Amino acid sequence: VAAQLRSSGLLQTQGLIGGKWTEAYDGKTIEVCNPATGDVIANVPCMGRRETADAISSAYDTFKSWSKFTATERSKCLRKWYDLLIAHKDELGKLITLEQGKPLKEAVGEVSYGASFIEFFAEEAKRVYGDVIPATLADRRIVVLKQPVGVVGAITPWNFPLAMITRKVGPALACGCTVVIKPSELTPLTALAAAELSLQAGIPPGAINVVMGNASDIGETLLESPQVRKITFTGSTAVGKKLMAGAAATVKKVSLELGGNAPCIVFDDADLDVAVKGSLAAKFRNSGQTCVCANRIIVQEGIYEKFLNAFSAAVRNLQVGNGFTEGVAQGPLINEAAVQKVEAFLQDATSKGAKIQLGGQRHSLGMTFYEPTVVSNVNSEMLLSREEVFGPVAPICVLKLRRKLIHIYKQLHACLACCLCSINCRGSQRERERYAYGMCMVREGFPLTETRPTGKVKSFGLMRIGEKWTMDEFKQFPYIICDSI
Ligand code: ADP
Repeated sequence: VAAQLRSSGLLQTQGLIGGKWTEAYDGKTIEVCNPATGDVIANVPCMGRRETADAISSAYDTFKSWSKFTATERSKCLRKWYDLLIAHKDELGKLITLEQGKPLKEAVGEVSYGASFIEFFAEEAKRVYGDVIPATLADRRIVVLKQPVGVVGAITPWNFPLAMITRKVGPALACGCTVVIKPSELTPLTALAAAELSLQAGIPPGAINVVMGNASDIGETLLESPQVRKITFTGSTAVGKKLMAGAAATVKKVSLELGGNAPCIVFDDADLDVAVKGSLAAKFRNSGQTCVCANRIIVQEGIYEKFLNAFSAAVRNLQVGNGFTEGVAQGPLINEAAVQKVEAFLQDATSKGAKIQLGGQRHSLGMTFYEPTVVSNVNSEMLLSREEVFGPVAPICVLKLRRKLIHIYKQLHACLACCLCSINCRGSQRERERYAYGMCMVREGFPLTETRPTGKVKSFGLMRIGEKWTMDEFKQFPYIICDSI
């Protein structure tokens, strides 16, 4: 696969600064490995402060011209980039599977999903309207402008190597900003391939820069630079807090998308098949490694036994293996640390009375493969209920009284609740709204498309992504008051 990607020009293994493919200045590299086999796919530069400073300078210089492109010109460049991403959907999907491990079908799905942000924001680029506000004096006019903030630092995780980048870079470029991307060191190759396609699409060199290597040095350089006016981040709560504090010194805008703790709730009146299918999708997508994956499935008493049996049977059918193998639904976890986290959470749960219904072991395939696992008797004292397990473990607990749900919600509220997957929420709109933390999905397990908001609430994050409001995250709003127009 690597050879095939190399021949199509998409296996870029250097950073991108000012449109030039660049090694680390001291020649250091880091290995990018295939989590399914442990094979080294490529060595990429281990960059730090100096390379990041140069990437910022190039983004800053390019901002002066890119922000002056007309909205239509920017829109056309983005549309071309979208077309190229779609034209290379299969190769990009293979690259995602190679470095991240998810099944090829899911990976190709991520390319469509990721590319859809570029298409959406290519359209939105043309709709950056200002406002004229009624003045308090008869001979005055107040005009509000919408301007791009400037250089954006985009720091992204490994679980969606393409989509996490496009949903930040799409709106940033559409507004007229330029970007320095720091992808996860675990999955930089997809970011580099997407950047190569951006150059082919005619997005000017320097508008998109990619650096990777020493995360804290790169992060600090972005934070310290007065030329960087915005940090957009998806990742752990701990790193997000650090970035927010660091952004204060130069008063940058900050968007954060942090950890989640999404419940999936199955009421007595649910259609069992729909509930099982929805919960399976909500839990086991990307082997449980997404921030909106159901962290706990709460099942009302009347349907509990039936649901547990049917759900366990469906989980038993999930085929584990290399994401390139036809029919595989569960790839490996991203690394050894991820497996150890799953093991620690299960150890904690069983020591507090949880019962493993299915799985609960490393998979016989070895590496970082883990058996799809179902755990019952889960209570709120367990780590499984309180923090994201980020793995293929479905903790199930029983809901005796529907009115207790609000109590459970209050607990979630205290521990980063973000998202409700309600399979069959027959209550009133008002009832649904009580559950609507970040997102509320009624009878479905897939929360995300480019046109919906990714609502971040409370300490789960500060970010609007993937709809008309997103553009405001990358803009500033000066106004002019004058005596005539
Ligand atoms: P995850 O557990 O999902 O990997 P992290 O927050 O560790 O979450 O990583 C998300 C992104 O943040 C990655 O690109 C990672 O390299 C980057 N990162 C980690 N530590 C820092 C840091 N101190 N400063 C800036 N970026 C960081």
